[in-house]
Amino acid sequence: MKKFLVIVTIVLSFLSTAQDRKFKLVLDAGHGGKDPGAQKNGCIEKEIALDVVLQVGQILEKYPDFNIKYTRKTDVFIPLKDRAKMANDFEANLFVSVHCNSSTSPNPSGSMTLVMGLSRSNMNFEIAKTENAVIFQEDNYKKDYKGFDPNNPSTQIGLKILQEETLLQSIAFASEVQNQFKNTLQRKDLGMHQQPLWVLDATVMPGVLIELGFLSNAKESKYINSKEGRHNFAQVIALAILKYKNQLFETDTPLFEPKIVTPIIVEEPKPELVTIKDDPNYNLVVDTTKVNTEKKFKVQISYSTKKLELIPSNFRGLSNITVTEEANGYKYYYGAGSTKEACKKLVAEAKAKGYTSAFIVEDK
Ligand SMILES: [Zn+2]
Repeated sequence: MKKFLVIVTIVLSFLSTAQDRKFKLVLDAGHGGKDPGAQKNGCIEKEIALDVVLQVGQILEKYPDFNIKYTRKTDVFIPLKDRAKMANDFEANLFVSVHCNSSTSPNPSGSMTLVMGLSRSNMNFEIAKTENAVIFQEDNYKKDYKGFDPNNPSTQIGLKILQEETLLQSIAFASEVQNQFKNTLQRKDLGMHQQPLWVLDATVMPGVLIELGFLSNAKESKYINSKEGRHNFAQVIALAILKYKNQLFETDTPLFEPKIVTPIIVEEPKPELVTIKDDPNYNLVVDTTKVNTEKKFKVQISYSTKKLELIPSNFRGLSNITVTEEANGYKYYYGAGSTKEACKKLVAEAKAKGYTSAFIVEDK
């Protein structure tokens, strides 16, 4: 019996050692529930973040040497402090938070990865403010976050600086993520940044916050929101995690070749629509892009310093006369056509009426 117990103890301790050797990863989908994150161009940050995170997990769960914990797997609100606590209790080796960026301007684009650190840049502080702002939606935030006010830059001074080693590991991983975005996905690289973010500050392991791109940028939001775009992001983030693990833990977990697919982004045609309101019975919508393709050419018949009334008797019996006012007089035209060929007939008609120098001009 005693011998049996010894064997059981040995087996159990072996199993727990094997378990400990697993790479413990926390995947954190930003926002959730009552906190949607950024909402621009029909995209919702919390949905994109969750989709990408679940796909990263799906790829890495196939590896037996991974032990993965998700801060959320559904559309629920998780306070930042709970996310940090989950990661700390789990004794994670790496904490990866996925978000989308947003700006008040439609122009900024590109992917960036943030690691915990002291920031000197205003732009980054703005992001930190947005990503940390959720704290105010939580009850008892003053108590739970011990005076961490995302709106106050002096808060940075009070933040504890992570041990150098942890910070260096975060930086190594962040660089690999950006390397993948830039070289494998050909995304615009906004680089790696050090940032005071509460969720990263409160976790004790290396951690990063990935901003996939700007939802406020119409073009970039289409990529991020596409099925293919999210698939691509998940592939390269998973690959970056594998590479980081192999490098830092000197393991040789086999890598995979990422399958990158080009998103099918349909550019909706944007005709300039003009509503003609003259006739109250017809709310007629005219596609001006089509109107503009017509009557591209017209026939100039004469030039005069006198302004003539546009009646046939003033133009040797020709009707359909138009005029443009020039610097020193008036140019008169007969008819119009969508092609030069169509105007040739009009030139012949004008010449027959005595306008011998009639010629075709472009109608601008
Ligand atoms: Zn976010």
